[in-house]
Amino acid sequence: IFITFEGGEGTGKSTQVRALKETLTERGYDVLATREPGGSPGAEAVRHVLLSGAAEEFGIRMEATLFAAARSDHVEEIIRPAVTNGMIVLCDRFMDSTRVYQGVTGNLEPQFVKALERIAVNGMIPDLTIVIDVPAATGLERAALRAGSEAAPDRFEKETVATHEMRRQAFLDIARAEPDRCKIVDGTRPLAEVTADILALVDLRLDQ
Ligand code: C5P
Repeated sequence: IFITFEGGEGTGKSTQVRALKETLTERGYDVLATREPGGSPGAEAVRHVLLSGAAEEFGIRMEATLFAAARSDHVEEIIRPAVTNGMIVLCDRFMDSTRVYQGVTGNLEPQFVKALERIAVNGMIPDLTIVIDVPAATGLERAALRAGSEAAPDRFEKETVATHEMRRQAFLDIARAEPDRCKIVDGTRPLAEVTADILALVDLRLDQ
């Protein structure tokens, strides 16, 4: 089973992936937690380029194509083999991030985004996508706190609140358009409550 986590900056995706991995592992499941951009050695190298200052010079098509190249490698080298071996794969960001970041706020035409998605995903559509929803301003505050304790914000975290709010709406639009695959979770509540909600959704999917 393949589960993805989507949402803007500071929504708590990686924290929730960690918590879910721990719980499912305790229950005896074989769990792989991974993330995008990255997740395979090749894709991590591409991540490094995409999050660096050099990428500011890239056209949006090149940026989107690099995200797709990294995703294709991640899918074929890591995700598909793990799912085939019966593991539960949890992925922090996947194809919906490209629809939102490159498609909606990158202004890339939908046909280009769709074509890249088809090639990169190659049938590996998530069984469940958890969209963690947090107002953009709240998410950015959280991301800034995290950056203060760890590293400088990456180039995507320097954008305006309006841009981030547009992304938030775009994630919600995707979730409403694909209600079977996507479930929206309110990420403003205490961590443990968010984790409990996600676990309930995952349990439903595991029982299917
Ligand atoms: O998940 P995380 O926030 O660490 O993602 C790294 C950065 O890559 C984010 O700041 C996000 O804005 C950006 N990104 C993107 N397009 C994607 C996926 C991620 O611009 N398709």
